[in-house]
Amino acid sequence: MASDDRRITSGRWHPPRSSRAEVADLFGEGQTLFVRLDAGGDPVAVGDLKRVEVSTRIGRVPRRIGFPDGSMFETDDNDAVDTWLKRLGRTGFIHELERFHPRLLGIVAAIVLLSVGIYRYAVPALVEVAVLVTPPAVTGWMASGTLLSLDKAVFSPSDLPEEKKNEIRSAFNQVAAFSARGASAYNLNFRKGGVIGPNAFALPDGTLVITDELVTLTEGDLDMIVGVLAHEIGHVERDHSLRQLYRAAGTAGLIMLIAGDVGSAGEDILTNGAALVALSYSRDAESEADRISVELMTKAGRDPRAIGRFFARLEEKLGIDSESSFISTHPGTAERRQAIDDYAKKLMPGGS
Ligand SMILES: [Zn+2]
Repeated sequence: MASDDRRITSGRWHPPRSSRAEVADLFGEGQTLFVRLDAGGDPVAVGDLKRVEVSTRIGRVPRRIGFPDGSMFETDDNDAVDTWLKRLGRTGFIHELERFHPRLLGIVAAIVLLSVGIYRYAVPALVEVAVLVTPPAVTGWMASGTLLSLDKAVFSPSDLPEEKKNEIRSAFNQVAAFSARGASAYNLNFRKGGVIGPNAFALPDGTLVITDELVTLTEGDLDMIVGVLAHEIGHVERDHSLRQLYRAAGTAGLIMLIAGDVGSAGEDILTNGAALVALSYSRDAESEADRISVELMTKAGRDPRAIGRFFARLEEKLGIDSESSFISTHPGTAERRQAIDDYAKKLMPGGS
């Protein structure tokens, strides 16, 4: 075959819906592209430039040209394709962007800085505002959603005997009566913890959950159990879990902003209980809740050091690093026990 000045380059042609590759040449005439097999014969694919799809140039990745009939021509000769496209005035806009560009790098750096700024300053401020304006109906909705998903995923019904539950409940009510919101603000639930093991947690609306495993760990020590629950009351009173939730949601929001994808992360955090329960509190929040436990226990005439004894028990039985225990979400125990003891001493009648 004589040389044809319409020939752009050589490559491989794939028939529609086939992975078969045939050695072929690409030709251009005016606005029309067509493919001829090396084996000869009529063009096997023809398409107007407006109707073919030319893949974007990405480094040395073979260029693909999709024809309206579904067939595809592929070539490693990117330059030839570009030259032909340029001659027709269709330059690769995206290709320009994909080239390494100092200005682009500057934009990326600016976005990263802005995001860090939002994270450091705007998220904490927004969290405080959100905590203030969240209506009780919303915290109730979050809590029921959380408990529901935890019941589906991790929990099973408590195996504790009814008398034991009643004993814990009445001791709890007696202590909760001294809390700022009163006993009626709390709703105590018993569950078998499964993978989350010995645990107790509070949801923003005052829903408390205690696992059978935690009750077992205390060997039925009622002061220890109620001390832990009083600590959870502290988290509710000071809106710790709501604050944690918003902080996480804010972070997820930021990730969405950067990634441009809402994804399931945000949805998970807002509706999935596991995410809420996995959020660990700050040390400040923990000491605050410890102090409230000591105060409530003192007022109720129970052992104010019970929460400290509970931490000692946890460490002794599970070790500090146990991932599925209360410790993983309620960090810090060594100096913490000391602080509990000191505070309890201070609150004791005649204590200093
Ligand atoms: Zn805590």
